[in-house]
Amino acid sequence: MRWSQAFIPTLRDDPADADAVSHRLLVRGGYIRQLMAGVYSVLPLGFRVRAKIIRIIREEIDAIGGQELLLPALHPREIWERTGRFESMGEILFTLDDLRGGDAVLGPTHEEIFTSLATEITSYRHLPQLWYQIQTKFRDEARPKSGLLRVREFTMKDSYSFDLDDAGLDLQFDRHFAAYSNIFRRIGVTAIPVEASSGAMGGTDSIEFIVPSPAGEDDVAHCPACDYAANVERATSTLPRIEDPVGPAQPERFPTPGVRTIADLAAFEGGAAGDRQIKTLVYVLDGEPVLVLLRGDHELQEQKLLDETGTVEARSGHPEEIRELLGADAGSLGAVGVEGPRILADLQLAERTNMVTGANIDEHHLRGVDVGRDIAVSEWMDLRTVVAGEGCPVCGEPLEVLRGIEAGHIFKLGTKFSEALGATVLDADGVSVPLVMGSYGIGVERNLAAAVEMNHDDRGIVWPVSIAPYEVVITVVKPDDDDTVTVADRLYEDLLAADVDVLIDDRAERPGVKFTDAELIGVPYRVTVGPRGLADGVVELTVRRTGERSELAVEDAQDVVANLVRSSR
Ligand SMILES: [Zn+2]
Repeated sequence: MRWSQAFIPTLRDDPADADAVSHRLLVRGGYIRQLMAGVYSVLPLGFRVRAKIIRIIREEIDAIGGQELLLPALHPREIWERTGRFESMGEILFTLDDLRGGDAVLGPTHEEIFTSLATEITSYRHLPQLWYQIQTKFRDEARPKSGLLRVREFTMKDSYSFDLDDAGLDLQFDRHFAAYSNIFRRIGVTAIPVEASSGAMGGTDSIEFIVPSPAGEDDVAHCPACDYAANVERATSTLPRIEDPVGPAQPERFPTPGVRTIADLAAFEGGAAGDRQIKTLVYVLDGEPVLVLLRGDHELQEQKLLDETGTVEARSGHPEEIRELLGADAGSLGAVGVEGPRILADLQLAERTNMVTGANIDEHHLRGVDVGRDIAVSEWMDLRTVVAGEGCPVCGEPLEVLRGIEAGHIFKLGTKFSEALGATVLDADGVSVPLVMGSYGIGVERNLAAAVEMNHDDRGIVWPVSIAPYEVVITVVKPDDDDTVTVADRLYEDLLAADVDVLIDDRAERPGVKFTDAELIGVPYRVTVGPRGLADGVVELTVRRTGERSELAVEDAQDVVANLVRSSR
């Protein structure tokens, strides 16, 4: 490609609203443009990177037996209602009316549609199957941000496996794990596999691949000692046991004027430290008010509450609901003697005695509360958010909490979708059984952005050769010098003939502008052709990642550069 004819609209300044490095550099480098919130046009440079990422993904999924197909983005609402996900997907589902008077949905994912196709599999003899597509998804994110990292329309490779039993699913899951690891390595991102919540997918088991980055939106508890890693939506930890002092034979009420919070009560004369308080929250789970109890200094992990209770929609109780249920305001709530609502307690409260909690009378608390004796806990569950420094659940060493980008997610779905949509086969004994399914997603543009997050410096993007839009840029220092142009054009033609992706910067711009643009867009190798070097029979090679420079004899340049590119692809 000749830069003088290419559409590469680089910008001198950062976009005003860019909060992530990848957002800033991809806009400035002329890779993407925003059309509206969370919706981007992919320009020619971006399209080339995207195509290379897709090619790598396709090669790896084909290698584990994937069969590619293409399903519609437009779905009938009815099929989403049959699995209950018209409700559970909530507001992220784009819905629209059609002329036939029916409702349609723009697919945020495709479990329903693949499963409905899989009803055509009738015998165990036709299993296993692995189907995938590379296709556009739509999710109406409330707060799209960070350029390509959180968008409303994006390309995803999603695959779906169909097996007779769990052993078959385990095999397909493990193959995807390996294929995904290859994909991330080949596109130049480091992705940590972490245990994750299955969220709206349901199912039994899932692993997210998280690229550590401050631009991400997921927090991961990671153990540097043993490599335990789990999304905080699911992570657990070990805590030192707390020895409670002996308390009274029954709870004692005491006035706590002005006390509203855990911190207030810890500072209050006659109160107690956060780890000796019981925090009482009112939640509404699918319309049912419940009490959620945690140690005072612990935070609720809402996703755990959803997962543990199988709830679709959870919210905090409104002040008037709280008062109606417990008779007090949020600062004085407790569960002692409460009958009626379910009481869900975090495991860290088990066997605790002589605790302090609200008395359900404004500005009064109870001391001497023995959880087992005084509170009618309905269910014990892990509900709290892990914090950095707590003990690893595997080896006990301190955990760290990392921020990261979810670059891929693989799920063991089991039979949730096949049962809902009637996808069954006859097994070897002639018995009808539901298909055992897995689903496996990887976002194309999100990985493009993740690659930039991991591969950049203060001058711009530093693409890995494997996904660079161009592998080599030839910078013509003096486009009005005949010798320079002749040598540069010949090198350009020779590299093209050697199947190198090469861009020639033949623009009538100052050399400084060309060097700056080449660094900004991140081409891995630059060959500078100018009259000064040609006087000595050389051109200059610069490696973008290291800044390393070397001189190449004009007659060797094509071979040296082509070999360098081939060996680093
Ligand atoms: Zn550990």
